[in-house]
Amino acid sequence: MATQTSVLTYGLYIDGEWREKSVTDDVLNKYTQEVTARTAAADKQDVIDAVQAAKNALKTPFSPYDRYSVLIKAAATLRARQDELGEILAREVGKPLAECRGEVGRAALTLEVSAEEAKRIHGEGIPVESAPGSEQRQAFTRRFPIGVVAAITPFNVPLNLVCHKIGPALAAGNSVVLKPAEVTPICAVILTEIMEEAGLPAGRLNLLTGDGATVGEWLVENQDVNMFTFTGSPRVGQHIREKAGLRNVALELGNNSATIVHRDADIETAATLSAEKSFNNAGQVCISVQRVYVHEEVYESFLAKMKEVTEGLVVGDPMDASTSIGPMIAEREAIRVESWVNEAVEQGASVETGGKRDGVFYYPTILTNVTDEMKVCRQEVFGPVVAVSSYRSEDEVIARVNDSEYGLQAGLFTNDLAFTLKAINEIHVGGLIINDTSGYRVDHMPYGGVKKSGTGKEGPRYAIEEMTEEKIIVFNG
Ligand code: NAD
Repeated sequence: MATQTSVLTYGLYIDGEWREKSVTDDVLNKYTQEVTARTAAADKQDVIDAVQAAKNALKTPFSPYDRYSVLIKAAATLRARQDELGEILAREVGKPLAECRGEVGRAALTLEVSAEEAKRIHGEGIPVESAPGSEQRQAFTRRFPIGVVAAITPFNVPLNLVCHKIGPALAAGNSVVLKPAEVTPICAVILTEIMEEAGLPAGRLNLLTGDGATVGEWLVENQDVNMFTFTGSPRVGQHIREKAGLRNVALELGNNSATIVHRDADIETAATLSAEKSFNNAGQVCISVQRVYVHEEVYESFLAKMKEVTEGLVVGDPMDASTSIGPMIAEREAIRVESWVNEAVEQGASVETGGKRDGVFYYPTILTNVTDEMKVCRQEVFGPVVAVSSYRSEDEVIARVNDSEYGLQAGLFTNDLAFTLKAINEIHVGGLIINDTSGYRVDHMPYGGVKKSGTGKEGPRYAIEEMTEEKIIVFNG
């Protein structure tokens, strides 16, 4: 619930009550850099209270059908408020309005799919009778809620990624303590209001806003949390895993996503989609196209088309319908991206287009003459920069795609069945997208990486598996 002054100030939500705090954090409009709202800074006692409320709420029954009803109502409200929430997202993230409205639509779908899954969480019959000596026995499994789930989320997709955590967690019968990113918390607060209005019982969802280094850390230290579901940087993800001990942890982390464009690909489509998915949300997407490997026979035509599409992208005010790329999340990030591009150029890379910073904006940039060792290829750029290079053989390109600490998703444009089957077998990622880029995702598919990209899958059905415990029941006849 918000207090109205010149800008709205939002409180914490603990045990079904809104709690105002005297210490608040400013949330900036990422385009104008003006304060657009303030959120409460939770203290250590707030964290303890939120976790305790979540734990206590587990004692009050919350049936699968009631979970379904709350989530489906909340999804309907998101749809009804799509334009308004899209505008709030555009201000707090800096993403173009159309992209933000799209995120609200996807968030509604994520809650709808979670609602549906709430009604069909099931176990399976286990044929224990087939073991000699167990002929008289029968068995089945059931899945039970894991308990208190702490959900910690990143800045870049701050509504849908929150829904990917609280939707499945609530559907599975858990309680949640949510800690959204401090720079983009507003939609998470409004979603909490929507959940309350939809009839969510007190304590089932608790909201803590504030810094990761304090609030996040207190949450990780709290031994009454049974599971952490985290999306964010590999550095913080690894830290949470180390501190969680034997508790369950699901991690959705970074990537330096690769897309391959083979010699038989539809170059026009591949170049258009690659440009779109390199630069949407100013490249601040975990499956952004960062490395494009193009077969040498089609390299020049691909590059020309990708350049043409990129140069048609409009950089500017996210609220303007013609804008395709808004500001980065902070000027500090734009400066970091600028320094990585400059370093690549010093090491021999060429800027085909872009390569320019204007305050918090970084212009969509295509680099060529890169080596796989440059930072812009090897590390996660998380900005509007893509490196395009050529390859000669299938073995070479598969090796280069796999030569990464990460493995979230990869794309492959080809209609060559033999190469496709080889790629399916050999590319080490959580998702391989054929005839599209690494940047494809729909919300009910299993989504999650290998290597440093994380552990565990999202997509409501798969997240529910992570957020429930399986128990076997054996009958002796
Ligand atoms: P981040 O790791 O800086 O922050 C993520 C969250 O962790 C925030 O809520 C932050 O407050 C919190 N946090 C920070 N320090 C903490 C600590 N010590 N203990 C507990 N919590 C702490 O990430 P970001 O900059 O918000 O997001 C960008 C990263 O997220 C990129 O690496 C990107 O690839 C990744 N990401 C991954 C996916 C995916 O699905 N794999 C999706 C989106 C973003």
